[in-house]
Amino acid sequence: MTNPYKIEGPALISFSGGRTSAYMLYQILQVHGGKLPDDVVVSFANTGKEREETLRFVHECGSRWGVRIRWVEWRPDRKESKYAAFEEVGFNSASRKGEPFKALIDIKKRMPNTFQRWCTTFLKIYAKDALMRQELGLEPGQYLEVIGLRDDEGLRILNGFARAETDKRKVRYPLANAKVKKPDVMRFWLGENTDPKNLTHPLPQGFDLGLASWEGNCDFCFQKGKGIRKRLIRDNPQTPVWWHQREVDHDGWFDSRDRVAQLVEQVRANPTFFDEEADDMDADVECGSYCAGEAA
Ligand code: SF4
Repeated sequence: MTNPYKIEGPALISFSGGRTSAYMLYQILQVHGGKLPDDVVVSFANTGKEREETLRFVHECGSRWGVRIRWVEWRPDRKESKYAAFEEVGFNSASRKGEPFKALIDIKKRMPNTFQRWCTTFLKIYAKDALMRQELGLEPGQYLEVIGLRDDEGLRILNGFARAETDKRKVRYPLANAKVKKPDVMRFWLGENTDPKNLTHPLPQGFDLGLASWEGNCDFCFQKGKGIRKRLIRDNPQTPVWWHQREVDHDGWFDSRDRVAQLVEQVRANPTFFDEEADDMDADVECGSYCAGEAA
């Protein structure tokens, strides 16, 4: 059987900035003797609302493993086609104040939500599509998209295959083929540690993301459960500010059940209340896992 981590170009390896896709990239590099074929591109799309820990982690994966990770940010397309323009950035120049995301919301004049997750479509998929167009002159469907969903994310994988068929894209999920599950990934990064923020043992790889799995990607993503978002508010009252401002700017909402201001008020009224929604604290929050589009 072919090694699932053996990638033949042309291909795009999507790196979400989380532990799972980093694990996948590491395994792919091992199989390729540490050097990818010239027509295999690794890309990380920054929305501007990533955590600083995520940016540092992506940077470290690239520098420690000697692999070129292309950092892209979506930019409005002057021709107004659905394919966005993009800008290539790096660790130092990456947006950190939500600039690409805000620009998109301002153009759309509304917020994305669970049923309309165009934030991923534009900020991640179209930005990477544009990179591949520039880099290899290829359109989606003419290259393989390699995505870091694990074997225990079966439904998302099925949905991803279905969308890929609709959109005429070619996708592969090497971690699912290799039967990799979440504990495998966590052991790879954390070893015997149980709390990534309170290390009691050496890190097997010498570095780690340093975030709880539910903290990754956009810092207050509406896809995170209500309990997680309330915990994020408790941990850092500054986190929801940007998201609240977008709702104010466009008099809308990311989550029709609770505007950001309402969540903040709920936390203010009951700061120590451990609500039942908090049972999703173990959930992964990697954009690729949540966003319909990224897996397509
Ligand atoms: S992490 Fe959430 S807010 Fe950010 S692009 Fe993905 S779905 Fe949208």
